[in-house]
Amino acid sequence: MKKYNFNAGPSKLPREVMEAVSAACIDFEGSGLSLMEMSHRAKNFQPVVDEAVALFRELLGIPEGYSVLFLGGGASLEFCMVPYNFLEKKAAYLNTGVWAKKAMAEAKLFGETVEVASSADTTYNYIPKGFTIPADADYFHVTTNNTIYGTELHKDLDSPVPMIADMSSDIFSRPVDVSKYVCIYGGAQKNLSMAGVTFVVVKESALGHVSRQIPTMLDYRTHVKGGSMFNTPPTVPIYCALQTLKWIKAQGGVAEMQRRAQAKATLLYGEIERNKLFRPTVTNPEDRSYMNICFVMNDEYKALEPDFLAFATAHGMVGVKGHRSVGGFRASCYNAVTLEDVQALVDCMQEFEKQH
Ligand SMILES: *Cc1c(COP(=O)(O)O)cnc(C)c1O
Repeated sequence: MKKYNFNAGPSKLPREVMEAVSAACIDFEGSGLSLMEMSHRAKNFQPVVDEAVALFRELLGIPEGYSVLFLGGGASLEFCMVPYNFLEKKAAYLNTGVWAKKAMAEAKLFGETVEVASSADTTYNYIPKGFTIPADADYFHVTTNNTIYGTELHKDLDSPVPMIADMSSDIFSRPVDVSKYVCIYGGAQKNLSMAGVTFVVVKESALGHVSRQIPTMLDYRTHVKGGSMFNTPPTVPIYCALQTLKWIKAQGGVAEMQRRAQAKATLLYGEIERNKLFRPTVTNPEDRSYMNICFVMNDEYKALEPDFLAFATAHGMVGVKGHRSVGGFRASCYNAVTLEDVQALVDCMQEFEKQH
């Protein structure tokens, strides 16, 4: 049966990407070696990193003075590396969900941490507005897409201090004004690659301003200087990221990704609102994520949730169960998810509605 992959992460990748990675894992570019058994310092591997960095820069329009790094450790290690490298006295955080809260918890180990606003009071189903960012903070940290709760900042905010963003689950889904940030990071396994690589975009001139000592591997300067090769980087996931970047470029770049994301979100939110069985968990349309679309069953149909999950699963839908902290359903519609995939889920919802 055809499967429709709405997994939240690791998640769907374009077919072409998986084919290219599979081929390289058997015979890397006719070298007679698998990509898995090659040195990261091999002459024919360096171009993979160089090209991935170049495409990353091109697609996101990264200005001069920024480095693109491919590291290990996941976004979760960046939660600690960010304050290690940037927090001297005070940091400001916008608390929009579990990931934001985890990032803030690490910052507290390094200095004064101000929560400028929080939507924890309503299970993070909106993005707070009208908050004040302290002008004396070293940075202001945001999570641009809240993977678990389905809220998203669709535009780069204005801030009196440099911004740092966790873009794990919306990178390359919209144009970004990188100049507003000193650091952008994320786990690649949502919208860029397979699991195992973390991307970091960092402004070089913003480094080296904290007075503490930083362990070598946790110091961004180590990786800027080493070109992501200070130690062995995750070679296969980097190759996979390169293939996705090539795919994004061939499809028309981030503007096209944004157009598709909007079209998919319009279709699915439209059905959630029209269908008598369902309602979206994020009530304010402007806060609704295009990447992770969360919905539940209306109170009078609540008991049908397990039935719908079984029905959807029987129709090939994968990964539509909501996160345990929200319940209901979540369809992650990352770049590789097509409008046809979303239409299949909509058809499923309509068929189920007819039966009830
Ligand atoms: C998945 C996710 C994380 C955690 O990423 P890891 O790479 O597993 O550490 C952090 N932030 C956001 C927004 C995420 O979606």
